[in-house]
Amino acid sequence: MATATLTAGDKKLNVSATKLLINNEWVNAESGKTFETINPATGDVICQVAESDAADVKKAVKAARAAFDSGSKWRKMPASKRGALINRLADLIEQNADELARLESLDNGKPYAVAKAADLPLTVACYRYYAGWTDKIHGKTIPINGPYFCYTRHEPVGVCGQIIPWNFPLLMQAWKLGPALAAGCTIILKPAEQTPLTALRVGELIVEAGFPPGVVNILPGYGPTAGAAIANHVDVDKVAFTGSTEVGKLIMEAAARSNLKRVTLELGGKSPNIVFADADMDQAIEGAHFALFFNQGQCCCAGSRLYVEERCYDEFVEKSVARAKKRTVGDPFDPKTEQGPQVDKDQFTKVMGYIEAGKQEGAKLLAGGKRWGDRGFFVEPTVFADVNEEMKIGQEEIFGPVMSIIKFKSLDEVVERANRNMYGLAAAVWTRDITKAHAIANGVRAGTVWVNCYDVFDAAAPFGGFKQSGIGRELGEYGLANYTEVKTVTVKL
Ligand code: ADP
Repeated sequence: MATATLTAGDKKLNVSATKLLINNEWVNAESGKTFETINPATGDVICQVAESDAADVKKAVKAARAAFDSGSKWRKMPASKRGALINRLADLIEQNADELARLESLDNGKPYAVAKAADLPLTVACYRYYAGWTDKIHGKTIPINGPYFCYTRHEPVGVCGQIIPWNFPLLMQAWKLGPALAAGCTIILKPAEQTPLTALRVGELIVEAGFPPGVVNILPGYGPTAGAAIANHVDVDKVAFTGSTEVGKLIMEAAARSNLKRVTLELGGKSPNIVFADADMDQAIEGAHFALFFNQGQCCCAGSRLYVEERCYDEFVEKSVARAKKRTVGDPFDPKTEQGPQVDKDQFTKVMGYIEAGKQEGAKLLAGGKRWGDRGFFVEPTVFADVNEEMKIGQEEIFGPVMSIIKFKSLDEVVERANRNMYGLAAAVWTRDITKAHAIANGVRAGTVWVNCYDVFDAAAPFGGFKQSGIGRELGEYGLANYTEVKTVTVKL
């Protein structure tokens, strides 16, 4: 695998990290296999990447275990020094932000301007937030009965397998590595096969920052081979996964069968976004547009069941359709582009299948519905009205630029209908009435509720799902707890 030079917008990019990172060394897969990563805007191959499988996972786990063993450089390192290293990594990502944004756009298809303005700063903020935690992770002293001194220690959980998706490659890497490194764990991270390039570039920066060998290992490859090997490995103490509910169940099963490794899951969603007639209409329309179409609709928390009160339904639908028709689709490197391609052909095909199902089941197609252009994996911004929860598009996660608008009459009704779904990741409500806002916030079974806003993320605020949207929380102090074990120590006085 030679270094590839690519054109990314108006600049050339040198892609040097295309191998596996094990023990701070860049190596080929044991099998010698490679796979192609594709530019979804054109369908062209960007470059070949080393393809890991079970043999490489075994090697990486060995390195991560050695780096975690007591007496290792990483375990002896003062907590504050760990924080300094994570901050150094954040500095390096910041210094290379433009290159990383271009690479992210090329490999994923998201607009470069969005990657630069949103993904990069959020990634840096996540590392910095967790850098600040390293020397603030501590236990309690507990007044138990008798002449004893009892205290707890919050120790790192150990070797962590982390399997991430393709929709926010850099950010998902930060959400996983940040808390794991802060707690003092060691890691085997598998990026998604669709988008391995930025994770590997960050691997180079991790080595440059000075993390000891074996602390972070990065293994590009496929789910059923590399991913499954991580979930099944008996010397991995914890697995953290973000992706589909279907695969989340496989991960949990593998964890149970192998060694009862700890499991955290951030899975799918079909999030209700509820608009009352008393809302600021312009704000709600733009907010609902953003909630659904952001990132080509490829957000696990997309506001994909858009409930609109009967009294403002017609106006809302009309204006939402007009807004969707104005959405600019095209070259991710064009600064005017709001929407790039779907990440790959499979996703494109899946989204087109849902559009077909919507038409067949009697939803009213008012915008889009077709492929955009004649190359790459673009889908027109699509709006269906008169959707209900019995339709596939009203029930299942589409993960694409397809808005489904549903009419409702009353507050109690909309709470009941919002909860009539297997997912519970996020929800939102648009209203000027504080009582309605809190009734929705309390009544909806979801891990996050936004009031008069959508997709507001902060490294300090926890995120995760109720029901089949997952187990555990990421970000914030809650996210950190998943990377520690509590040890109780009792001393006779
Ligand atoms: P999507 O359908 O959106 O691509 P997936 O859940 O299939 O989402 O993928 C998310 C991540 O999980 C990717 O890194 C993928 O390679 C990985 N993955 C897929 N299948 C498995 C599996 N059987 N075991 C472990 N990881 C998997």
